[in-house]
Amino acid sequence: MSLFEEASETEAAALRILKNTFGYTDFVGRQREVITHVIEGGDALALMPTGGGKSLCYQIPALVREGVTVVVSPLIALMKDQVDSLQQNDVRAAFLNSSQTAKQAAAVEKQVAKGELDLLYIAPERLMTERGLQTIQQGRVALFAIDEAHCVSQWGHDFRPEYLKLGQLKDVFTDTPMLALTATADARTRQEIIDKLRLHDGKTFVASFDRPNIKFSIALREKPRQKLLDFYEQHHRGHSGIVYCLSRRKTEETAEFLEKQGLHAIPYHAGMDQKTRQRHQDRFIHEEGVIIVATIAFGMGINKPDVRFVVHLDMPKSIEGYYQEVGRAGRDGLPANALLLYGLRDAIMLRQMIEDGNAPEHIRRIQQQKMEALQAFCVSTNCRRQSLLEYFGEEFAPPCNNCDNCLEPPQMWDGALAAKKFLSCVCRTGERFGAGHIVDVLLGKDTVRIEKFAHNKLSTFGIGEELKDKEWRAVARQLAGDGILSANEHGGLKLTDEAWKIMRGERGISFRVEQTRVGSVKKSVERKPQPIVDLDERQMVVFEALRELRNKLAQQQKVPAYAIFQNKTLVEMARTHPVTAEDMRQISGVGDAKIERYATKFIKVLREL
Ligand code: ADP
Ligand code: ZN
Repeated sequence: MSLFEEASETEAAALRILKNTFGYTDFVGRQREVITHVIEGGDALALMPTGGGKSLCYQIPALVREGVTVVVSPLIALMKDQVDSLQQNDVRAAFLNSSQTAKQAAAVEKQVAKGELDLLYIAPERLMTERGLQTIQQGRVALFAIDEAHCVSQWGHDFRPEYLKLGQLKDVFTDTPMLALTATADARTRQEIIDKLRLHDGKTFVASFDRPNIKFSIALREKPRQKLLDFYEQHHRGHSGIVYCLSRRKTEETAEFLEKQGLHAIPYHAGMDQKTRQRHQDRFIHEEGVIIVATIAFGMGINKPDVRFVVHLDMPKSIEGYYQEVGRAGRDGLPANALLLYGLRDAIMLRQMIEDGNAPEHIRRIQQQKMEALQAFCVSTNCRRQSLLEYFGEEFAPPCNNCDNCLEPPQMWDGALAAKKFLSCVCRTGERFGAGHIVDVLLGKDTVRIEKFAHNKLSTFGIGEELKDKEWRAVARQLAGDGILSANEHGGLKLTDEAWKIMRGERGISFRVEQTRVGSVKKSVERKPQPIVDLDERQMVVFEALRELRNKLAQQQKVPAYAIFQNKTLVEMARTHPVTAEDMRQISGVGDAKIERYATKFIKVLREL
């Protein structure tokens, strides 16, 4: 058999499983290449965005190759959901972790030894014990899949020391392929994964990081709570979402506030006791329409497909972080929203956190650069998608027509003169005052501080009366965002090299007219959940009935609703109205096992409507 035929045979086997077991018609992104490469025994690193379909990259090889695929995942709490979803498709999967009794664990170990499993989920610290290695050596290992592989990166915020040991697997399992997967795309992390996991002979596959179904919006953080409420009422009533905050306290206060407004909001952060945290995470995953208000401790490995929105009430630490967090929205491919609210103080607070952190100097410098890149992104008037993808080294031709800047192009005004006035006032006052004081000086105000420092004697005193207080603050924010001003730990503004270019007239600058107000939205009396996609009235009724049935089945079996059918699948059923098993089989996400388990029940509902 020629090499070509061999390759296509591998592909055909993979495609059969994709269709029969998972019920999908075609591969997405670079799944096809990753899957065939791994089935044929190659090592690989797969970089795909959240929602890009990483799981199938090892789940399909697991069903083609002989033996058990060992999936290393850092998140014990989520293993059960993954296994539940696989078992719903009649895939022989199990997990080994500390949530089990000794007896349960022993039963799984026995299954491994007898070759009765295709997938075994296990935490790295458990795998890399003598017992863990012995367990898998009793059977045959088809593949090692290292999920969330960026956890090997020592300077990333998800660093797990246990991950560093995984490279040793290569000493014992010399012929077993290893597939590392992550949604963190930057070159540095990529190299670190290859080095630490010893994937030098493998191939790297980079999928497009575009997430076309996510709409990106960035707004000023003025009346943030009102903005959040309006956003929810306008677009997301009854939907699941994540609200990120920087501090633990803020997560609790915000959740409490939302709860008082009658929404289902729960906090989540690393300072809560393990049990409560787990309970809150479970509620978010298993119930519908729950908003989780969290620090970035929340989210890694959450594969809930129907998160409809992600809001940042504070600025994230980097574009990578931001993209990973917003990527948790809309995994199911249906429309989703990402809203970030930012203010000038964010930069100051983050800078402080970086300074106070105990990272070595060179790492702090990287963190600083990353934060500045994100700030520039916030104030930019370019297509958001283009900016993001370019940051990850991908080209994208705007407009995307699904970001704030494309949908409502910002109005600009020539800010050269205003910038000069502001910057010279910063200079004259000695580069140690915050934006508030500088604005007071420009407006010629009579304040105690101005009196105290004799700033009313400066040439810049009162030269800025053409703009209002608010407008000057916006100028300050945009100057800081563009890296023209930097701030010290007390918020004192300083000029950068770029500032001098503006002062000397070597570069111009324009500012965006900031939308400070979003129209207040009346709460509707009827609090029905908002439709996610355009379904007509009749289809909506069908969708709701199918959803109810699905949720009931999920509750009975104590599995997440999406393990039975994802919303996307239900939407398709509502649209095409299948009333035979054959029709049902055409729907994306309906494989053999689901036909057998559920077709009759769902068809019954569809026939009645
Ligand atoms: P990741 O782990 O990369 O974040 P997942 O593996 O959870 O992404 O997949 C994201 C979503 O896409 C899931 O809802 C999954 O069912 C769906 N999906 C994955 N591959 C395909 C495919 N080939 N066709 C259709 N849907 C797919
Ligand atoms: Zn755009």
